[in-house]
Amino acid sequence: MSEIFKGSFTQQEPIPEDGISAALEVMRHGRLHRYNLGPGEAGEVALLEQEFAGFVGAAYCLAVTSGGYAMAAALRAVGVRSGDGVLSNAFTLAPVPGAIAGVGAEPVFVEVTGDLTIDLDDLAAKAGRARVLLLSHMRGHVCDMDRLMEICRRADLTVIEDCAHTMGAYWRGVPSGRHGLVGCYSTQTYKHMNSGEGGLLVTDDPEIMARAVMLSGSYMLYGRHLAAPGAEAFEAVRYETPNMSGRMDNLRAAVLRPQLRDLNRQCDRWTERYRVLEAGLRGTPGLRIIERPEAERFVGSSFQMLLPDWDGAAVDAVVARCAARGVELKWFGAPEPVAFTSRYDSWRYALPEPLPQTDRVLAGLLDMRVPLTFSLEDCALIARIIRAEVSAVYPGAAAAE
Ligand SMILES: *Cc1c(COP(=O)(O)O)cnc(C)c1O
Repeated sequence: MSEIFKGSFTQQEPIPEDGISAALEVMRHGRLHRYNLGPGEAGEVALLEQEFAGFVGAAYCLAVTSGGYAMAAALRAVGVRSGDGVLSNAFTLAPVPGAIAGVGAEPVFVEVTGDLTIDLDDLAAKAGRARVLLLSHMRGHVCDMDRLMEICRRADLTVIEDCAHTMGAYWRGVPSGRHGLVGCYSTQTYKHMNSGEGGLLVTDDPEIMARAVMLSGSYMLYGRHLAAPGAEAFEAVRYETPNMSGRMDNLRAAVLRPQLRDLNRQCDRWTERYRVLEAGLRGTPGLRIIERPEAERFVGSSFQMLLPDWDGAAVDAVVARCAARGVELKWFGAPEPVAFTSRYDSWRYALPEPLPQTDRVLAGLLDMRVPLTFSLEDCALIARIIRAEVSAVYPGAAAAE
């Protein structure tokens, strides 16, 4: 009798009770707009910004409508203009090239390594083609940030970090999002805090934050922020920055604040689950797991594995056999974009150049979400199923070489 997994790969945990009561409170008083404040009231959004800035050790924080909005605002605020090139790693999700295209700029994709991080040699080679790098810590894999920052300093490249999968992660003790000039986070349901949709942007640069606040649609109400620079930083920018409304509201912030208080513990729970999957899959013939560097404190909210140089039909067979036993894997090498697994060559508006190394990595890349509704036993079972199904297909794949 082969085991079947019955859990849902898309079911996150409920909102904590204190988040629910805080949200009810906001609905009861009715002041959902961030600038609609009662006498002496700071507002849930301003408090969230202050608390998140404290969490990552940033001078300033702005809460917005999505991670994609945060990235587009960051690109505008650092001065990216229509027609500029913006470097980004090719292994990422559609909102990243979308944010670049949204400001009229052109993505210049950099190769990915077999460890799923940006290829730093290819970055150095392409550094002259842009002034900004939008670095996506895709699926929580953090590259050697010391070397990356050194390359970018030498090439005079401004770094914006997409931390959609690294909220709560660190590289050598520095929070993800704090190496570059701006860090962007998402609070969309499948990320590390859940407000349905939402985003956060952090920086230590007063002028960039002043521009981002104006862009988000603060009118002349920026004095109501608690994690923004003083009025002097707004003097120059307030007349020349367009309003592109993308504010977060008090309802979402109310739901997020209790989650932030619990974020470190939640990150540990994700990584506990990741380690069980990793232990269960390590040493499976034909399958490569990604060994995580010592300096990286990652958040294991998803799991990736490689079937290196496998024939496409064999990878497809593994995905189908796992699905039949309740284990939902996404294949980044599929010829057509499916669900969230689109690839760089399907973003045709970006006129992507061929990236042979990335093609080779993605061709064997399987991806799995790890929601916290999974127990450690669930993760052990999932690993057993994948191991069995990979082993069942592998000899055939080897013979086909
Ligand atoms: C989810 C995600 C984002 C931002 O997403 P929004 O849905 O706009 O909040 C950015 N980058 C990556 C890699 C993502 O997965």
